[in-house]
Amino acid sequence: MAVASPMRDLAAIVGADNVLPGSTEPYGRDFTYEILRLHGVADAVVRPGDAGEVAEVLAWCYDRELPVIPRGGGTGYAGGAVPVDGGVVVALDRLTRVRSFEPHWWRAEVEAGLTTATVSRLARENGLLFPPNPGAPEQSQIGGNVATNAGGPRAFKYGVAGRWVTGIEAAVAPGELVRIGGATRKDVAGYDLRNLLVGSEGTLGIITAIWLRFVPAPEASASVAAFYPDPVSGCAAIGQALGSGLVPAAVEYADAGVLDASGGALEAELPAGARFLVLLELDGSTDEVRRSREEAVEALSDGAISILRPADAAEERALWRWRAGMGPAVTAVTGGRVSEDVAVPADRLVDVVVGVTEIGARHGLPACSLGHAGDGNVHGCFLLVPGDPDQLERAYRCSDELCELALTLGGTVSGEHGIGWIKRGRMTRQWGAVGAGMHAAVKAALDPKNLLNPGKKT
Ligand SMILES: Cc1cc2nc3c(=O)[nH]c(=O)nc-3n(C[C@H](O)[C@H](O)[C@H](O)COP(=O)(O)OP(=O)(O)OC[C@H]3O[C@@H](n4cnc5c(N)ncnc54)[C@H](O)[C@@H]3O)c2cc1C
Repeated sequence: MAVASPMRDLAAIVGADNVLPGSTEPYGRDFTYEILRLHGVADAVVRPGDAGEVAEVLAWCYDRELPVIPRGGGTGYAGGAVPVDGGVVVALDRLTRVRSFEPHWWRAEVEAGLTTATVSRLARENGLLFPPNPGAPEQSQIGGNVATNAGGPRAFKYGVAGRWVTGIEAAVAPGELVRIGGATRKDVAGYDLRNLLVGSEGTLGIITAIWLRFVPAPEASASVAAFYPDPVSGCAAIGQALGSGLVPAAVEYADAGVLDASGGALEAELPAGARFLVLLELDGSTDEVRRSREEAVEALSDGAISILRPADAAEERALWRWRAGMGPAVTAVTGGRVSEDVAVPADRLVDVVVGVTEIGARHGLPACSLGHAGDGNVHGCFLLVPGDPDQLERAYRCSDELCELALTLGGTVSGEHGIGWIKRGRMTRQWGAVGAGMHAAVKAALDPKNLLNPGKKT
């Protein structure tokens, strides 16, 4: 339905200052712009001030059959927050209240627009830990983390974002607020609607607030970085470490291409011949960490060229800064990349690591990978010069083949970033007709006019 003056009507709900022209940046893009130049123009951008206004905006859009695109911090890697076909972008960045925080009960109720870093700081400053730590915490929002069920390095020990959610408040079609769960930690009444909203990428409702649980912060942490001559020996060492009974908080890896691109930024020199990195973080009591670090060094030593043990907290931070800079260092090699986030059973990691470079070579593109080894989660990168349509086409073919490989190995086309816009169509390949039909039926039941982030997560 054409709407004569969305700006004026929406201003009546959220105030004139909080309705922006649809072309306002950065609301037309997320982090896929950096890599793929994906970009959209909305009919309008609205910034509601509370949950009630979010529901009113949704009701107004639903009535007029205007698509609604929920937007968190815009750090997504799947184009989920991009208004590719117009519609109203609903930005949550003004919903930043901590509604309640009870450190003694390890819990809080926060609004969706609070940044991930703010939630983590709130926990940390009160002796608690909020474990999910996806890589752009100062910008991503807790609502976006829950809407994508984000992971990050510590997901190996602590699980993904949804594990830390005990309740969700959301605006749902045709424009009402619903609360599912709350501060109660256990709840098996009814279908698990809370976890249906977790990871739904804005296609089933707009999350306005979340009840979170925390854990007491571990007393200490320590890291171990082990370097290997090839992925086979590195992946075998990961199996050895996990088989020995160690429970690291994080088990990360990087392959030769990533080490080539980022090795110069490692404060300690990259050991000669290093073609594969395994990076562990261990946490717990001071005694536990001391003991498990020794065990980790022993378990990782088979086949290792060298093992690095940071001497103090400053060296620890430097090591993880290096890890955080690997993605940008890889992009800088040619200026652009198509990147995937497939996941496979952890014992098949080596097949995917080798597969990425083989697929890239077949299509004439430099390729490398890094990721969360303990979860078998591989960020396969196919490098290209931005603006070269032939390279982009080949990179997409590489992505398709990598997804096929992950499915053949019993894995998933997305372990972290979601399907969004850029991976549309892939889910059916993973789930088959019956599974995809159930998925579509849920969408039709909760969003009968298909206006909540249409075209995404399909
Ligand atoms: C440098 C870097 C490192 C990253 N590392 C990781 C990582 O380790 N692990 C990982 O999982 N991800 C990672 N990401 C991806 C990204 O940070 C996560 O997906 C994050 O959770 C997205 O949050 P956001 O607030 O930016 O969401 P956006 O990008 O704004 O939106 C993402 C999706 O969620 C929907 N959405 C957002 N907010 C809401 C809401 N309140 N209600 C309903 N739907 C909503 C949007 O419609 C969209 O579909 C990384 C990104 C960057 C740039």
